[in-house]
Amino acid sequence: MSPWSSQTPPEMLTVHGLGVSGGIAIGRAIVIETRAVDVFRFPLTEADIGPELDRFHEAVAQARREVERTRDHTAANLGDELGAIFDAHLLVLADPGFLARVEEHIRDEQVNAEWALHKTAEEVAEAFARMGNEYLAERGADIQDVVGHLMRQLQGLAHHELKEIDGPVVIVADDLAPSEAVRLGREKVVGFAIESGGRTSHTTIIARSLKIPAVSGVKGVTALVTDEAPVIIDGEAGLVVLHPTAEVLADYERRVGELARRELGLRATRDLEACTADGTPLALMANIDLPEELPDAVELGAQGIGLYRSEFLYIEKSPELPTEEDHLALYRQMVESAAPHPAIIRTYDLGGRKLAAQILDSIEENPVLGLRGIRLTLARPEVFRIQLRALFRAAAYGDLWIMVPLVSSLDEVRRFRTFCDEVLEELAAEGVLHRRDVKIGIMIEVPSAALIADILAREVDFFSLGTNDLIQYSLAVDRNNEHVADLYQPLHPAILRMLYSVIRAGHAAGIEVSLCGEMATDPRYAALLVGLGLRRLSVTPRLLPQIKTRLRSLAVADLRELAESCLDLPTAADVEARLDAFLSLGMVTADALDS
Ligand code: PEP
Ligand code: MG
Repeated sequence: MSPWSSQTPPEMLTVHGLGVSGGIAIGRAIVIETRAVDVFRFPLTEADIGPELDRFHEAVAQARREVERTRDHTAANLGDELGAIFDAHLLVLADPGFLARVEEHIRDEQVNAEWALHKTAEEVAEAFARMGNEYLAERGADIQDVVGHLMRQLQGLAHHELKEIDGPVVIVADDLAPSEAVRLGREKVVGFAIESGGRTSHTTIIARSLKIPAVSGVKGVTALVTDEAPVIIDGEAGLVVLHPTAEVLADYERRVGELARRELGLRATRDLEACTADGTPLALMANIDLPEELPDAVELGAQGIGLYRSEFLYIEKSPELPTEEDHLALYRQMVESAAPHPAIIRTYDLGGRKLAAQILDSIEENPVLGLRGIRLTLARPEVFRIQLRALFRAAAYGDLWIMVPLVSSLDEVRRFRTFCDEVLEELAAEGVLHRRDVKIGIMIEVPSAALIADILAREVDFFSLGTNDLIQYSLAVDRNNEHVADLYQPLHPAILRMLYSVIRAGHAAGIEVSLCGEMATDPRYAALLVGLGLRRLSVTPRLLPQIKTRLRSLAVADLRELAESCLDLPTAADVEARLDAFLSLGMVTADALDS
């Protein structure tokens, strides 16, 4: 029987979300539930205690079987080193101290196993936070993973395992960490449907990097689908089609072919000059998260790498820390493939949602406002020294620029420069091949940095605007929260004004200002950004052709006039309407639009 038919096919259902990674994917669902579920406290009678302990032991045994299966499967597909991560989970599941503590709560307080487990998890988290030790922090993270696993067993929720499934897989998840997306994306996963997230969450950025169609913000989708159900992800329209009919399936299969032909056609733009219609030169660069994107960047004519998110090297090597040689080999590959253009490598932006279990030794209540980016770099110099050494060494092989994330004050810039000087002295004393005169720049992605851009510009070599975070922090809108996704507005007048003032401050100081946030991936917004004064944009390689094509059709003078008029508009909707009207009318000036 065809995998797409059954005796009584369930009805087709189409659910809407945000198309965050283009393309169409057809496959079978694996449902992943990761979000915390409510834990209730139930009192037990004396007689209930025995059966409750049995229930807990059964959940532990079941969890052990699942973790063993996952470990074996991971080791077979991804290697023993990654498989070994799950050995740590098995150790926790066999830890007599941990299990006895849960049993004690059940017996002494006469409460249900879920509550006893929840209490134990809280005690463990507190104890580990007090210890302040890196190795133990890692063990703490293992225990929290195991607690989540056990809780799902006790509550009878669907649990994800890397199961054998025939053919391509579509992940349907309530939430997905970026590291999970990388891992799954490299297996036979062809699409993602995620309840959480907006256009700029790191998970959706990863989906774009791996060229996997994705729809995010699909509220409630995990409740509508079961494992192995047929699913279509329409990343173009932002639709998830569950149990498609044969006609709909055939239509989508035809569109997959069409999209492949369109993409091939766009590749022809590679040899066209990156400039506006009046010949103003532009630099269209590539954002790189994973090394497998490099060939595409070269193939699509990227003028260098505008952002390499080095934290993904860390995430890939986790739970081991990358060695200096790991860093060096990768950065050298970056500068050599970017040549003759620069490769801008960003130092680790760990923390926030890009977790740093090995580096952080406490659990943060609000990690996005916590020890993230440059703050973590300065707090853990022993980890970052390795990276800095490798950066100055790799710079000997090409035009490498170093970029620092999440700067919020001048003090951080100065401390970072002192750190670089120390590393340079060390390399010189050792006689290791390296380069000293490396450009050092910063991301402008925190409002405080944007507001003192004139001051910062005196002490750095370049700025790169990180709109993903700048929008999140300026508008107080979590970039990963689907409930406020409509408030995440790149065209908000506050954002446009902030961008404009940073661009002017940078240019007044004579330094390069570029933009590497996802805002530039929309060709319409890219046009507005050129109007605001930017000439260097960095985007996912796959989107370079569309952006180049759009910008080549527009003249800077018109774009400047458009941008200036947008700065006076009161709402994001007004800006969008003006932008769309301008682009659909071609060269009509903003004045004409007013009349
Ligand atoms: C940004 O914030 O715009 C950015 C490019 O950095 P990231 O998306 O990695 O936070
Ligand atoms: Mg950022």
